[in-house]
Amino acid sequence: MPPELPSDLLAAIERNWGFTELRPLQTEAIRAVLANRDSLVVLPTGGGKSLCYQAPALVRPGLTVVVSPLIALMKDQVDGLARNGIRAVRLDSSLNGAETNAALDSIRSGEVRLVFVSPERIINTGTHQILRDAGAHTVAIDEAHCISHWGHDFRPEYRMLARLREFFPGSSIHAYTATATEQVRTDIISQLNLQQPQILVGNFDRPNLTFRVLPQSDVVGQIREVLDRRKNEAGIVYCLRRADVDGVTEALKKAKYRAVPYHAGMTAEARRQSHDAFSAEEADIVVATIAFGMGIDRSNVRFVIHACVPKTIEHYQQETGRAGRDGLPSECLLLFSFGDVMALRRIMEKSATEANAPPEFLAAGRNQLDQMVRYASGAICRHKALVRHFGQNYASPNCKACDICLGDTQDIPDSATVAKKILSCVARVNEGFGANHVIDVLRGANTEAIRSRGHDKLTTHGLLSAMEKPQIRDCIFQLVGQNALVQTEGDYPILRLNADSWAVMKGTLVVRLIQTRSMGVEVPEAGTLPSGSDAALFEVLRQLRREQAHRLNVPPYQIFADTVLAELSRCRPTTPERMRMVSGVGDVKLRDFGPEFLAIIAAHATEFALATDLPPLRETATRAPVSTKLSPAKQLAYKMFADRASLEAVLEKTGLSRGTVGDYLADFIRAEKPSSIVQWVSAELLERIAVSAREFGTARLKPVYVALNEEASYETIRIAFAFLESSAAAT
Ligand code: ADP
Ligand code: ZN
Repeated sequence: MPPELPSDLLAAIERNWGFTELRPLQTEAIRAVLANRDSLVVLPTGGGKSLCYQAPALVRPGLTVVVSPLIALMKDQVDGLARNGIRAVRLDSSLNGAETNAALDSIRSGEVRLVFVSPERIINTGTHQILRDAGAHTVAIDEAHCISHWGHDFRPEYRMLARLREFFPGSSIHAYTATATEQVRTDIISQLNLQQPQILVGNFDRPNLTFRVLPQSDVVGQIREVLDRRKNEAGIVYCLRRADVDGVTEALKKAKYRAVPYHAGMTAEARRQSHDAFSAEEADIVVATIAFGMGIDRSNVRFVIHACVPKTIEHYQQETGRAGRDGLPSECLLLFSFGDVMALRRIMEKSATEANAPPEFLAAGRNQLDQMVRYASGAICRHKALVRHFGQNYASPNCKACDICLGDTQDIPDSATVAKKILSCVARVNEGFGANHVIDVLRGANTEAIRSRGHDKLTTHGLLSAMEKPQIRDCIFQLVGQNALVQTEGDYPILRLNADSWAVMKGTLVVRLIQTRSMGVEVPEAGTLPSGSDAALFEVLRQLRREQAHRLNVPPYQIFADTVLAELSRCRPTTPERMRMVSGVGDVKLRDFGPEFLAIIAAHATEFALATDLPPLRETATRAPVSTKLSPAKQLAYKMFADRASLEAVLEKTGLSRGTVGDYLADFIRAEKPSSIVQWVSAELLERIAVSAREFGTARLKPVYVALNEEASYETIRIAFAFLESSAAAT
């Protein structure tokens, strides 16, 4: 179990953000910052990277410098912090002289502890000098993969960040990214010259996303199938070309969907309009090119549709990662076509020639695209395939959240035989031809190319005459995807056999071939809201959020995340104290928005005779299992607890943090079940905690913390809960 964080930091997180639990690896990442140890933190989109550098900045004097690639991203963070009562400033080319001076003044005077800077500004101007003079101790680099050629979003100006070490000699440097490939990771470490960095890599699975792949047919119709199931919800549609973006946007608008376009060919002003409309929930759908869209930031994106296959799995992961950042169920649909693959290949070749890129660069690009094609035409669980691509294991045999596992796909009738026929045909043509020729032979075509080679005399000629050409091609790719067939690289890829191919032909290895063409898909009812939420109230709250956002001219998600609205619509608080117990409601938001939200909730509950002030939902506790073997420090602490030593005495003797000692004491109480804990928690306080716990349960600390007016610390509550739970279990 990672040691706990200082209690003033936890209190700051709880006060400003309203979070009482940290997500996986946030604790470790924050500790690296506090310890001034360089770090590389790789967490999926929505994993909560920003808290890792924002929160520590609040509890230390001096300055945390955050480098970020886009003005929109910086603005978003500064505004989001302001909504939580935290002042931060940004320095970028969009500020005028007076604004820049004001920002610099507040940095010099020590009023702000967080400053967001563009790479150009920090490297090319004297800004770094000013920041250093203002006591910069920590440099955080957001979207750090932009420094790597191998990443999906290389930015030349990020290369210059190699000089940060020289500009900030005494500071620790922390890199954050959602791109998980080894190559990018190594590149970030060496480019930034990170010193013995702590490397933290999170779990890349996104269980709340459902992945599906459909063969592309009628693109607009296929998109509308999703939109019609998800009325008033937000989504992104990715297209290959600018013209596709414009075409799809027009078609959707004509059909009365609220869609806006977004691509590099638009003027900055037009792009800003699209961006703002989407952020403000005035538009539901952004149609964007795949090369664009990093600035699209809304935590309640419920679907991401790829109308075109992305260039790499990293792109796919990054782009689908924009769905469901708030953790609620969301869906990702890929409309796959080989035409798009060919077009991408041509674009890639053209730009490689134009840029005079070395041949291995083009080869790497082709290889990455092939991997993407294999994913799309594969027949293994999508979650598993994605997670595996990033070198992680996926243990569960059924993800319950992809077309393969949900049984949305159908096996091709008699697929074992089909596989054998394809592989035998590759053997018969002596592993010397590409997919098109093999398909022609299997379909029994009577062409010059076939006759001249005598392939019309082969036993495999015409074996699959009943199948359509595209269907056979999909089967071939599925075999390649499952490594039961090899496709060589280069301009004229040839099909070859390997050991697995022979095993399939002998019948000792079974592969699955799925139907990828034109079936009516049935998608299970979406059901975004957690059970118990009142959908009507949720909509009412969303409307209120939109109005408030409009009034303040901020994006709605900065007021409350969808998760907060969902929980409000479920437990329906009637008092500020009750509302404050909801995760994501901090002091400032309660003050700014509490009254209006409470009024609407009360009105709705009365009108529909709904129960109010329901107890908080049990959150999936991330508490680590109690280790049975005690470390020396823990042994010492246990011994002292047995002797009724005070927390302070144990702190002093063991040198552990307060949080850790508190945890140990809670473990001790659960294990030893002492008859009283008056040495650690006064009888009066214990009684108040017990009263409160009867009302709210002991699943979460926050409700009790709030109910007691924050007079009992989290540690005290944790210790008291341990006692209450173990004495309840004993009776
Ligand atoms: P990333 O930068 O990794 O994509 P963010 O920092 O934007 O992710 O966080 C994603 C969402 O998760 C935000 O809405 C954020 O407020 C929320 N979040 C972050 N940490 C926590 C936490 N410990 N508990 C609850 N919500 C959190
Ligand atoms: Zn699956």
